[in-house]
Amino acid sequence: MQNPDNRSALEVARRSYRDISLYAPDRAPCRIDLSDNTSLFGVPPHALAALRAASEFSVTRYPSVYSGDLKTVIAEYIGVLPENVVTGCGSDDVLDSAIRAFGEPGDTLATANPSFAMVPLFARMNGLSVAEIRLTENQDVDARGFLGANADIIYLCSPNNPTGNAASPDSVATVIAGFDGVVILDEAYAEFTDRSFAREAATLPRLLVVRTLSKAFGLAGLRIGYGIGDPGLIREVEKSRGPYKVSSAAEQAAVRALSEDRDWVRRMVEEVRGNRGRFIDELRRIGLNPLSSDSNFVLVPVRNASQVARDMRERGVAVRPFPALARIGDAIRVSVGPWDMMQDALNALEFALA
Ligand SMILES: *Cc1c(COP(=O)(O)O)cnc(C)c1O
Repeated sequence: MQNPDNRSALEVARRSYRDISLYAPDRAPCRIDLSDNTSLFGVPPHALAALRAASEFSVTRYPSVYSGDLKTVIAEYIGVLPENVVTGCGSDDVLDSAIRAFGEPGDTLATANPSFAMVPLFARMNGLSVAEIRLTENQDVDARGFLGANADIIYLCSPNNPTGNAASPDSVATVIAGFDGVVILDEAYAEFTDRSFAREAATLPRLLVVRTLSKAFGLAGLRIGYGIGDPGLIREVEKSRGPYKVSSAAEQAAVRALSEDRDWVRRMVEEVRGNRGRFIDELRRIGLNPLSSDSNFVLVPVRNASQVARDMRERGVAVRPFPALARIGDAIRVSVGPWDMMQDALNALEFALA
């Protein structure tokens, strides 16, 4: 037998984890942080009031097992029933739980390229392999590519991160109609566009729409996500998720936000849409060719994105570089906030390109 002292952590860990590294984005503080698409408009007022009052309720006891109060307001917000809703510690948790619930080790998950970078990681952490289906020339979902991939789970993201555009409803509907496994549709940026499949998900047997309070609702630090689907599908995700995943304080704040801060969020979304259009116009004016966006960020192809991001950071503006994206090449992703921040981003970008 091998000397027990000689076995490294790598040897005792799951084999499939050996080529997985820790998620390590550049989180160094920066004057203006436009790097992660979280809200740049502060905490919604009623959510903030709930957080301030949080010390007044008991934190010595566990929170509700599956966040019943939160499910009720989410159901009302979307227009479905509470049994159509599962919550989680961020939508990352819902995605991870769903992949574990519907994928056996050795199964294949199909995702677009480029798309949300966490999903291939969650797939591999659950023992699945990943098939990447390139987006079409105009950054749409390649429905035929997905249906021909022989996958067990299909992950779609609309509006898509990092390209910013929504998929055409036709392509999404074609994938849903033609696939006999579970389709996970990530709508983290749904509030910034008019198209959503969330209500439909409650009427279909194998569509799970995943949403979050981390983006439009400005509560990324509280870690609240949710999924919408058929009650049977939702129960399987809930088994995989396990109990007590949303803290009491987070649940209270989210309930207030979803019931009383909706107008606040709507006004903020209007401002983002206005600034997004203006930012894209300004980028074109300086000779760039940004992608059109249905979200709260804009993808801007630039040469040598990592260097551009470093130079912009020197001017106090953090953006996320994406080197060598399929079909697009190097690009930076810029979150959209109040206009003064976008003006600073433009100035920093012009400095970086000079
Ligand atoms: C930001 C983002 C999420 C959100 O994750 P949370 O865990 O809810 O904070 C999920 N999916 C996509 C595509 C995102 O961009």
